[in-house]
Amino acid sequence: MPVTAVVGAQWGDEGKGKITDYLAQQADVVIRFQGGSNAGHTVVNEHGTFKLHLVPSGIFNPSALCIVGPGTVVDLPGLVEELEMLEGRRLDERERGRQRLGTTGRGVGPAYADKVARHGVQVYEVRDERRFRARVAHELLTKNAILERFGDAPLDSLEVADAVLRAAARLGDRIVDTLPLVEDAVARDGRILLEGQLGAMRDLDWGIYPYVTSSNPLAGGAAVGAGIAPRLITRVIGVVKAYSTAVGEGPFPTELSGREADELRERANEYGATTGRPRRVGWFDAVASRHAHRLNAFTEIAVTKLDMLGTYDRIPFCVAYEIDGKRTTDMPPTAILERATACYEEQPGWGCDITAVTDRARLPAAATAYLRRIEVAVGAPVGMVGIGPERTATLL
Ligand code: GDP
Repeated sequence: MPVTAVVGAQWGDEGKGKITDYLAQQADVVIRFQGGSNAGHTVVNEHGTFKLHLVPSGIFNPSALCIVGPGTVVDLPGLVEELEMLEGRRLDERERGRQRLGTTGRGVGPAYADKVARHGVQVYEVRDERRFRARVAHELLTKNAILERFGDAPLDSLEVADAVLRAAARLGDRIVDTLPLVEDAVARDGRILLEGQLGAMRDLDWGIYPYVTSSNPLAGGAAVGAGIAPRLITRVIGVVKAYSTAVGEGPFPTELSGREADELRERANEYGATTGRPRRVGWFDAVASRHAHRLNAFTEIAVTKLDMLGTYDRIPFCVAYEIDGKRTTDMPPTAILERATACYEEQPGWGCDITAVTDRARLPAAATAYLRRIEVAVGAPVGMVGIGPERTATLL
């Protein structure tokens, strides 16, 4: 595992946290490269079940250096709270020896908007208290004017600055310049994992704009957001669920409704990790995942939650869209995607529980054929298969 990016190849919530936690056992450095603490990566391992928001899913490997990269937006008090939660559950930072959790993140949607508008506050700025307080007071002039227009109470600049400075003091020397650390890891041939939030369909430039996130979850975004040259990324793992889910608005051509949706949602526990919001659910959409492959050039695909499809006799599998009477396998722009209907093939189901399988060669033939269908439709080999939420429920 030289430099590996783990990216979502659908709408997000594909199970990147589990895959990252799995791979992180062999990693030297794990870097979250974009997004903010609105993420909810669920990790289930020997320590318990954790919902991580900003802390990289590599945190459970005590010898891995975890970095919240510059491409993220960081709510410092929120980050401290998350670390305290982890420490409270006996993942004491001290057990991590001399390794530090480096943070050069910048200041979730509005934060990115501020960043692009060049009003963002970069994390290093907390080092100069006087200047930082002046910056906060200055930025709050415009923010408070907006709050006032919406009839909300203004923010007190002293309180805001105090909260961030307190969090910064708590993080202490863990706020560092990450570039030398990453450079050093590369020079030592270290194993580096880059962990993204959300998936290609929510990419700011290539997703279903405007129903997208404010950053780039693609492997290209990993290079920028982690501070690692693109040509150093040698492995790109596209994570897909064996079906589709989406949280929030926007076109979702394979979406199920009614009882069929409720059944899959309940069985697969498709509720948001951070918000508890019910996720929209649907069949596998090969157009979407192929779109993700075109943009990411996956060296392999990780298919998660295959165990959730064991009750079907036949499984619809979307291979194309029909738009205005024409069939296409290209992802159209959002306004046109809203008129698309999914064209399905049916794959035979395996009709049994596969959670006890320990060897991929022992999966039922129909499950293997389903994986093969994904490989052909998306265009990359399936390297990992998830058959349960636990780290150990992974077939290679
Ligand atoms: P992420 O944001 O991409 O990390 O995904 P989430 O953590 O939001 O959602 C994935 C959910 O599926 C989590 O609850 C995981 O514990 C769970 N999960 C991941 N892989 C598998 C799998 O192979 N089988 C089952 N049953 N659950 C899985």
